[in-house]
Formats: sequence, structure tokens, C-alpha cells
Amino acid sequence: MAAAHRPTPGFPEHLRALYERFPFERSIPEDPVAGLQGFRSDRRAAEVGGIFAATLAIGNTTAIRGSFAELLRRADGDLVRHLVDVPTPERLRRVAGFRHRWIRGDQMAHLASRLHAVHAKGGSLERAFADGLADGGFAGGLDRLSAALRGPDDGTAPAGYRVLFPSPLDDAGSACKRLTLFVRWMVRTEPPDLGVWSSVPISALRIPLDQHTFWIAYNLGLTARKTRNWRTVEEVTEALRAVDVHDPVKYDFVLCHTGISGDCPKHRDIAVCGPCVVRPDCRLWRGRRVGA
Ligand code: SF4
Repeated sequence: MAAAHRPTPGFPEHLRALYERFPFERSIPEDPVAGLQGFRSDRRAAEVGGIFAATLAIGNTTAIRGSFAELLRRADGDLVRHLVDVPTPERLRRVAGFRHRWIRGDQMAHLASRLHAVHAKGGSLERAFADGLADGGFAGGLDRLSAALRGPDDGTAPAGYRVLFPSPLDDAGSACKRLTLFVRWMVRTEPPDLGVWSSVPISALRIPLDQHTFWIAYNLGLTARKTRNWRTVEEVTEALRAVDVHDPVKYDFVLCHTGISGDCPKHRDIAVCGPCVVRPDCRLWRGRRVGA
């Protein structure tokens, strides 16, 4: 059996170089988090906007940003005031006909009603996550967050709503990318993340493993697993923790957007791969030299 591919001993330095050279000014405006930058100074608006944007984070980033902007437009720019803190008929009217991929307006209205219920009890998504984190680590935090968003299983949620919020504890097949991304936005303080949750340590974060991040993580040898599930999330995060124990998901944005932007062609291309700083670690170049 072939030995598992692993990064070179120089990988931490290569990854730091990738980060230092990365054109954040190009990629931040293309990311779903771009639509949240105006909420930095308002914790509740950031939390509400963040969970809507993260829930819509399916498909290409242009469509996600467009759908979030459309939701914001329907709420006259204030999701808390005009979607969360209003009666159900008003919510449904505002999102009637809204659609992003298979996500419908009635599901967005129900999410708003769940947020209303959480706030009405004096709670927050931060509180729900932090309580679960204290009891059961990061997966426990996501499980409690998922439960708050799903609400009681009493048949009142629209069709397809509850599956929008998977938990790693009851669905080990899911990488829970969107909720994990939401938590990264809320906790990390370095832009583009918003840093509005103060009760969750940055060191506790796990990587939001989307298809781009998974591709590069696998090909750099951060995991040998071929399936994108919760165990893979833990394994990739552990590999990145060895690079930065205090901020294990620091490199998530860069790894993800290296794929989204086309900086990495995902195949051997000497013109692009030649100057790539992580080429020594890349599976596609194992045993090969540029020009060989
Ligand atoms: S060497 Fe090429 S394929 Fe490998 S990570 Fe870099 S750009 Fe992507």
C-alpha cells in the first residue's frame, strides 16, 4: 500500500508565505462575508445577518452574495427590525417568492421566527453555542446551535427547513460547513471575520470544509480521508493546529479562495504551479521537479 501523502517539514513556512502573499483585497469582496462587513459594530445584527448569509452559502459566491443582498433589500436593510422582530404574516410577506437554489422564502421566514424565539427568552446564538461548547466541545457547540435554529420537532417548520442545520453529533456524514463557517465569522477578530462573539476562544474553532478547502487540504496531505465529513474536519483542523495552535483556522480563507479564484488550477500546470509556494507539499508534484 502506498504511504499516505504528507506535507514537507517546511509546510508551516510555505503556508505562512501563501498567507502573506495572498491578495485579500481581491478575494474579500467576492466572499459571502463581504455582505456582513457593515455589521461589525452591532453584535445582534452581525449574528442575525451572519446566520442568514451562512445558511445561503450554497453554490457560487456571486449567487450567494446576490441572494443575501436580495434578502437584505426585502428587509429594508435591517434584518433584525424588519424580519426577526415582526409578526409572522409580515415575515412571510417580505420573503414571498424568495429563492436561493433549493432554499425558499418560507424557510427564511421560519429562521427569522426561530431567532425571534431565541431572543425573546433573553438568549442568543452565541449563548447556545457557548453552552454546548462547555458541555461537549466544538461539536457540542454546533449541536446546541443546530437545536436552537431547528426548534422543536412539532411539525411547524416548513418542509426541508430542519435539514438546513445539521449537527455533527447526529449526522457524522456532514462536515457542517455552513454552521462552522458562521462560527468562524462570529469568533475570529481578524478581517474579514467579524469577531463579535467574545465567549468562544479562537483556538476552539474547526475548519469550514467546503469543496475547495477539502481539495487543497487533501492534496497538501492534511488528511488522507477521501470523504468530506466531520472526522475529516477534525483531522484537517488538527493538521492546521500544528501550524498555529492559537488560531487553527487562520488559513481557511486563503486555502478556500486559492481554489475559488482559480489561483490553483487543481491540476499540474507549470505556468501556475511553478511559483506556487506550497508546490513542495502538493501531491500532484510529488517526486517531480519543475522542468523535469
Ligand atoms: S502546486 Fe499547483 S496544483 Fe498544487 S496547490 Fe499549487 S497551484 Fe495547486
